Amino acid sequence: KESGKSRWVEYGPELDAHAVEHAQLAADLSQALDRDELTVHYQPIVALPGGEIRGVEALVRWRHPTRGQVSPAVFIPVAERTGLIVQIGAWVLRKSCDQAAAWISALDEAAPWKMSVNASARQLLEPSFVDTVAAILHDCALPPARLTIEITETAVFGGGRALDTVRSLHALGVKIALDDFGTGHSSLGLLRTCPVDVLKVDKSFVDGVTGTVEQEAIVTSISEIAQALRLEAVAEGVETRAQANRLLELGYQLAQGFHFYRPMPPEAVTAAIAAEAGVTHRGAGKATPAS
Ligand code: C2E
Ligand code: MG
Ligand code: MG
Ligand code: MG
Repeated sequence: KESGKSRWVEYGPELDAHAVEHAQLAADLSQALDRDELTVHYQPIVALPGGEIRGVEALVRWRHPTRGQVSPAVFIPVAERTGLIVQIGAWVLRKSCDQAAAWISALDEAAPWKMSVNASARQLLEPSFVDTVAAILHDCALPPARLTIEITETAVFGGGRALDTVRSLHALGVKIALDDFGTGHSSLGLLRTCPVDVLKVDKSFVDGVTGTVEQEAIVTSISEIAQALRLEAVAEGVETRAQANRLLELGYQLAQGFHFYRPMPPEAVTAAIAAEAGVTHRGAGKATPAS
């Protein structure tokens, strides 16, 4: 239908198999919440060069009863197409904000610590999304500025309701991050129309930071744009020390990637925070004595 009236499209057996697979996954996913198959892992976002944890990004995980772990890269698109993302997204948000409130109260209140949660296009189109976010922040007693909602350029590219939602979220005091920055539509034009606090530089650019002069120039330019507009820039997908060192030289103060931490269950983040506090406060005598 979308390809125009006068065109024929042949659906081969592979496409049928694909459609069946998709329908099965969608059916299973619709029961995943009730069956307790979803969890949230958290990946720290750290300061350069020291690696201190400045917050985490919530990343949903699905353990399918027979397939095992299914990647969000596979099931989030399914959840978007079926609309299930609205329910799943609200669940992730509540879980993450609850967890953030607990971590923040255990830390020094003054610690610059934030929770980032991804929102897909479908969620931003939902008329109740802003109310849902406001209600969750209220229930969890989490100040709005502690929450960052990660959106993609593509989700808000067309303007309309998605952009209105982002503006309302920002008016609530929630921070807005542009995820996978540089890979979507209209990266620069969007910075004029959409309220943005954080640029998350896509891994595909970060990969090039130790590559050619041209590739490095892109990463440098994004850092310069962020500085000029007073935005935070987070380098995503940092996998090596060489990348981290070069990013620091190019002006990056925040990073995320396997070189620092992988996404991990909440208990592991709690342990990482405690280990860090032990190191930071050792001089002040706050550390638990080693046994
Ligand atoms: P994203 O928001 O860009 O998240 C970053 C992805 O990169 C995560 O994949 C993370 O595990 C991975 N990653 C982080 N550091 C590295 C690294 O150093 N190397 C490599 N190779 N990968 C790294 P994940 O968890 O599989 O999530 C994939 C995507 O699924 C996310 O991309 C996001 O778009 C979406 N997603 C995940 N959780 C949620 C959610 O709760 N809601 C929505 N709407 N989307 C979600
Ligand atoms: Mg993200
Ligand atoms: Mg990202
Ligand atoms: Mg990315």
